[in-house]
Amino acid sequence: MAVPAKDAPREYAIFCQADGSGERLEYLVKEYGAADKAATIGDAATFTAPVKEALHKGCTHQAEGSGDCLGFAARDASGVLTPYRFERRPVGPDDIRIQITHSGICHSDLHQIKNEWGNSTFPMVPGHEIVGIVTEVGSNVTDFKVGEHAGIGCLIDSCGKCEQCAVSEEQYCKGGIFTYNGAYPDGTATQGGYSTHYVVNKRFALHVPKSLPLEGAAPLLCAGITTYSPMRYYGLDKPGTKIGVVGLGGLGHMAVKWGKAFGCEVTVISTSPSKKDEALNRLGADKFVVSRNKEEMEAAAGTLDGIVDTVSAKHDLVTYLSLLKTNGKFVIVGVPAEPFELPSFAVVFKRLTVGGSLIGGIKETQEMLDFAAQHGIVCDTEKIGIDYVNTAMERLVKNDVHYRFVIDIQGSLVA
Ligand code: NAP
Ligand code: ZN
Ligand code: ZN
Repeated sequence: MAVPAKDAPREYAIFCQADGSGERLEYLVKEYGAADKAATIGDAATFTAPVKEALHKGCTHQAEGSGDCLGFAARDASGVLTPYRFERRPVGPDDIRIQITHSGICHSDLHQIKNEWGNSTFPMVPGHEIVGIVTEVGSNVTDFKVGEHAGIGCLIDSCGKCEQCAVSEEQYCKGGIFTYNGAYPDGTATQGGYSTHYVVNKRFALHVPKSLPLEGAAPLLCAGITTYSPMRYYGLDKPGTKIGVVGLGGLGHMAVKWGKAFGCEVTVISTSPSKKDEALNRLGADKFVVSRNKEEMEAAAGTLDGIVDTVSAKHDLVTYLSLLKTNGKFVIVGVPAEPFELPSFAVVFKRLTVGGSLIGGIKETQEMLDFAAQHGIVCDTEKIGIDYVNTAMERLVKNDVHYRFVIDIQGSLVA
C-alpha cells in the first residue's frame, strides 16, 4: 500500500488515521466529501488524490506572519481570532511532532484572549486541548510511534528537578511552561492548538488510546483532567459518595461522567433549568438542583460530601457551601477573575475544607486517558470549523454550548 509522502504531513496524518479501518475512512470521506469514494477504501495511492482535493477545498486563509505553522491568533484583548503564521521549532532528539486533528475550546481560552486574568501576551494562538497524529519522532524517542494518536494539554515543559516534578505534579512547578501564553527559555512565545501542528518534548506528550474518538478525546486534555484530578485527590471518588457539581459546562459535564464512573451519587447544581433533562437522562446525573431556586436549594441543604465548583464567572460561595454536610469538601476549579468572599461562619461551623486544584500532572493525565478508554468516556462535543471560532467564543460567553466546542482542525485548516 502506498504511503503518502511525509512532506505532505496532513495527508500522512489522515492516512495513518484511516489506515486499516474502512469505517474510519468512510467517515472521513463523508465528512470531507471526497470526489471518488469507491476508489478510496484501503488504498492510500488512490485515496490520496480525491481526499487531498477534498481536504484542501475551501481553505483559503490569508494569514499574517510567516512560518511553517498556520493558526488563528488573538491580536489584542478584543479577543478576535484571525489567521496567523508562525514557526514551530524543528523536531529535536527528544521531541515529537503532532499533526493536530482536533482542538477543544476551553473557557480559559476565552479568559485569556480577552486578557481577563491580566497576564495575556499577543499575538496569542490559544488551545490546550490538543489531539492529533504523530508524524515525526526525534532520535531519542522510543515510546511514541509515527501514526500514533497523541495529545498535549496545558503544559509543555517544567524544571524536572523540583519536589513537584519528582512526583509528576508538574502543574505546580515554578518552572512550568504553558502550552500557549507562555514563553520558551529563549523568550519566544508558546502558541497553542488552534493551529496545524505542534512540536513537543516527549515528556509532555500523552498517548491517546486508539479506541477513543479523537474529537471527543480532545477536551479530556484539560476539561477531563481538571475534574478527574481533584476528585481523586480530595477523595470524591468513592462509591456511594454524594458529590455536587456546580456549573454544567465543559468541565462540569466531565465531573458528572467521572462521578458516575466512580460509583458516586451525583447532583448537578446549575443556573440553567433547561439543562435538567439532559443532565439526568443523558449524562446520568442522579439529581438536579437549580441554584436560583430557593426551595430546591433548601431541600438539598446539608446533603453532600463534596462539591466541585467549575463556574467561570463571579458567584456567591456561601449559597453552595450550605449544601455540604459536616466535614464536607468544597473544591474550586473554576477561575473567575474576581476574588471570592468566604464567610468564616459557613466554614467553621461545619468544619469544611475549601480547596482548589490546577489541571493535573502528566502521569495522572495519562492515567485519566486510560481510565476514559477503559470506561468508554469522552466529552460531549459540538464540532466546528476554524472559521466558526469567533462565533463559538460569543456563544461560550452566553453559556450556549453542549458541552464543549471542538475545532475540526484537520477538516478546516491547511498550512
Ligand atoms: P464553561 O463550559 O463555560 O462552563 C462554565 C459553567 O459555569 C456554565 O456552563 C454555567 O453552568 C456556569 N456559570 C456560568 N456563569 C455563571 C454564573 N454567573 N453563576 C453561576 N454559574 C455560572 O467553562 P469551562 O470550560 O467548563 O471552564 C470553567 C472554569 O474553569 C473557567 O473559569 C476556566 O477558566 C476554569 N478552568 C480551570 C482549570 C484549572 O486547572 N483549575 C482548567 C480549565 C478551566 P450552568 O448553566 O449549569 O449554571
Ligand atoms: Zn482549559
Ligand atoms: Zn519542577
